[in-house]
Amino acid sequence: MSVTGASNVALGATHHNWRPDVRRDVQQVLSRFSALSANTYIGHPWPGWDSVSADFWGPAGRGDPIGVDLSWSAVRFLLRLPGKPLIRHIIVEHSLWTSYGGWSWWSPADHTGRLRHVHVTWWPDGPGSVPN
Ligand SMILES: [Zn+2]
Repeated sequence: MSVTGASNVALGATHHNWRPDVRRDVQQVLSRFSALSANTYIGHPWPGWDSVSADFWGPAGRGDPIGVDLSWSAVRFLLRLPGKPLIRHIIVEHSLWTSYGGWSWWSPADHTGRLRHVHVTWWPDGPGSVPN
């Protein structure tokens, strides 16, 4: 896995320090889809949330776009993971899924084309919670 892909993603420093239950879910996705890699980064997507958020990119890591079919397969897999931690929201292409509102339109082009990846944020401690 490489972090050099970060050069075209001008955000915080990449890391892989997930909370243990989130790490377990991330690992399940990576075990199911060998063509994916995962990372998070400082302030992802908001300050304090990076240990409960993950981006799934291609095998070269952050900035390596994935295909449409693989993106949606990963999303379906994530939404079927049983038990906790509960997913707060997912972004794929121009779609946003939230645990409180279902599917809606995501207008930015930051999860499509050369930036296509799957974003996931889990609830820190159940619906409505915020990081400690
Ligand atoms: Zn993300």
